[in-house]
Amino acid sequence: MLISNILAERQTFSYEIFPPRGDLSVEHAMDVAGQMAQTRPDWISVTFSAGGSGNTQNTALIASQIQHETGVNALAHLTCMGASKADVNAYVHQLVEGGVHNVLALRGDRAPGREAIDFCHADELIRYLKATEPGLCVGAACYPEGHVEAPSLAADIEYLKAKQDAGADFLVTQLFFDNEHFYRFREACVRARIKIPITVGVMPFTSTKQITRMAFTCGASIPARVIKRLIAAGDDPKSQAQAGVEYACEQLRDLAANGVDGLHIYSMNKPAVAHATHAALVECGYLEA
Ligand code: FAD
Repeated sequence: MLISNILAERQTFSYEIFPPRGDLSVEHAMDVAGQMAQTRPDWISVTFSAGGSGNTQNTALIASQIQHETGVNALAHLTCMGASKADVNAYVHQLVEGGVHNVLALRGDRAPGREAIDFCHADELIRYLKATEPGLCVGAACYPEGHVEAPSLAADIEYLKAKQDAGADFLVTQLFFDNEHFYRFREACVRARIKIPITVGVMPFTSTKQITRMAFTCGASIPARVIKRLIAAGDDPKSQAQAGVEYACEQLRDLAANGVDGLHIYSMNKPAVAHATHAALVECGYLEA
């Protein structure tokens, strides 16, 4: 089913997984997806890693297996930095052949040796996908605190409007740890005439080291109340991860109470995280038991 059709009907709940690399197998990824599917999410998204990690091929394969074997809709990510139109055509062909009709169209990060070929920004990819494969439902990324390269949040939102104008059907936010950023961003989107649904991405932090890395890679600010919880958790890895899940559940309950289009969990291939966040959303009435 197209995600745009689901979003037209109800508030959604979904997970993200990342494909295996190194010694993690496709079978293991499917085991993770299968355990997440038990909570009946509206979709599971599968990230895409251009170059380096060598797991690009697995995105389409896993997305197709999720679609067929778990009965849950799959959303396959696609980045276009360093990709030609021929590369995109081949990937989309693989997805459609595999029964996957939902794509998250991204630019991807710039890296040495990965320069723009046929696409400089996500809006160009979105326009291309809509023109060449009109049956696809195409999502795009958005950034409640602004993208790290953007000169200002206002400039970033102008470019976000360009993604909507290019044909994006819905948005998924970057993670954030303070819901006020999202509420302000949502108001700014309304003022900018961005009308497509915005599903909200929430990531339970797992450790002090991991949240610090996230702050530096995606520019997410860390509120004092998160720092205090990590201090209280001390050096114990289990206590730090537990604090992260508890904090994410609080964020989710607050977002649910403030009427969002959808909630998307960056579940980091951890079924326990998926089940804990699902339980919190059942408890607060966002989801049915
Ligand atoms: P763009 O929309 O192109 O924006 C990038 C920057 O350029 C922004 O600063 C923007 O303000 C500016 N900009 C946008 N359009 C224009 C324009 N037309 N002209 C000039 N400037 C412009 N990365 C991966 O590698 N794999 C993944 O699977 C993946 N999944 C993600 C999922 C989500 C929900 C999110 C939020 C991010 C994901 N990323 C992923 C990271 C993403 O690739 C990076 O954030 C990347 O740097 C920007 O991608 P984008 O699609 O937002 O780019």
